[in-house]
Amino acid sequence: AEQELVRAQRFESLALLAGGLSHDLRNLLQPLLLAGDTLEDYADDPRLARLGTLVRDCGRRGLEMVSSMLSFARGARRAEQVKLGALTDALKLLMAGSVPRSITLEINVFDPDATFEGNHTELQQCMLNLSLNAIQAMPDGGTLRIDTAQVTLADDFFSEVESGVPGRYLHITVSDTGAGMPPDVLQRLFEPFFTTKEGGTGLGLLSCKRIVASHGGLMRVVSKVGEGTAFHLYLPLGMDESDVGDVPVLDADLQGE
Ligand code: ADP
Repeated sequence: AEQELVRAQRFESLALLAGGLSHDLRNLLQPLLLAGDTLEDYADDPRLARLGTLVRDCGRRGLEMVSSMLSFARGARRAEQVKLGALTDALKLLMAGSVPRSITLEINVFDPDATFEGNHTELQQCMLNLSLNAIQAMPDGGTLRIDTAQVTLADDFFSEVESGVPGRYLHITVSDTGAGMPPDVLQRLFEPFFTTKEGGTGLGLLSCKRIVASHGGLMRVVSKVGEGTAFHLYLPLGMDESDVGDVPVLDADLQGE
């Protein structure tokens, strides 16, 4: 538990640093972008215009990185009643333009009216990050699946580094049939700025993990090169243990589908 606390504190300092840095960087990058744009439009010498384009594109990319840093750093969350169906509907809407025809989207919601305490916007952002990653991992097409279930997690599900309270959880799985990840990528997945993509920010998964952790939940990943990846989110449904009898108990082996 102490180890967990230290990790949480490190996380918080990082978020704080990222937040401060993003504000300063944005003030720096906006005029740069404008200058590049102006140079591109008004330079008589085509070489200067090309330079303008370069400056503008770098500025734009910088601003994109800043906005992901900001969303990562976003502080205290507001708790509200989140409706599962509303969450998946919003996700569908947000993804509408990003799912290529070669990809089948399957969303299974056990009960659209199921509610739980959390922050809709954050969870939506998290699921969107995971879904867009999944889509990017399937350049040749495949299936993006989002599954939801209620599970009861027992004591032995948790560990030193992944502590949590046994009880009822909402289990959300975002899985793809894409490239999968080799062990060296899997190991570094949640490091800030770790990316294997050109133009990637390497903040998406970290921000997801942060969001899930701030809900008192945890996140696990199972991946196999050439077969695909599944991200498992577990969000606590509350301490009420009265009706645990009729929900499936998840065993430790997440691989089983
Ligand atoms: P980014 O998407 O900007 O690279 P992320 O933190 O979201 O940042 O992801 C970090 C890295 O994790 C990605 O660059 C990619 O290598 C790997 N990754 C994430 N999701 C998947 C996935 N569904 N399939 C394969 N690799 C993934």
